[in-house]
Amino acid sequence: MPRELKDHTLAYSEKTFRSGGGDRQVAARVDRAYRGRNGLITLVELKTRHANRFHLSDVIELSAQRVALAGETGEPVARIGWVVVESSARRTAHRVTLMSPQAVWELASRRDELLAGTESPSYTATRGVCASCAHRRRCRTGAEL
Ligand code: SF4
Repeated sequence: MPRELKDHTLAYSEKTFRSGGGDRQVAARVDRAYRGRNGLITLVELKTRHANRFHLSDVIELSAQRVALAGETGEPVARIGWVVVESSARRTAHRVTLMSPQAVWELASRRDELLAGTESPSYTATRGVCASCAHRRRCRTGAEL
């Protein structure tokens, strides 16, 4: 638990939220959400990793959770979130700034376009993620590693 959330209470745990409607929807599962005394919700994502660090994908996950939770419940959700990484038997809380709701919706649109084949994907900038990627054998960049 980050020190900054000591006076917060658990609001949601392992719960899925949805924002939007029809084919324009962001759905995300919240690991932990804590409510401050002023009612502001803060999101926490729990990860178990060898390396004690957070990734851009964690920030995207938390940002989508923020959009989904705020959209479904109407509650205010903080722009600051936490990625708690458990590595080598210790836990570290990383403070992260979440993406704007507009950036999340743009990302969701790009995903739709990629799946529809109307947009071309770009390769990852950090090759480390290729090592555990399920598409590695079919991917030119992944196959070069
Ligand atoms: S193997 Fe290909 S698809 Fe997978 S993360 Fe690397 S670049 Fe992306």
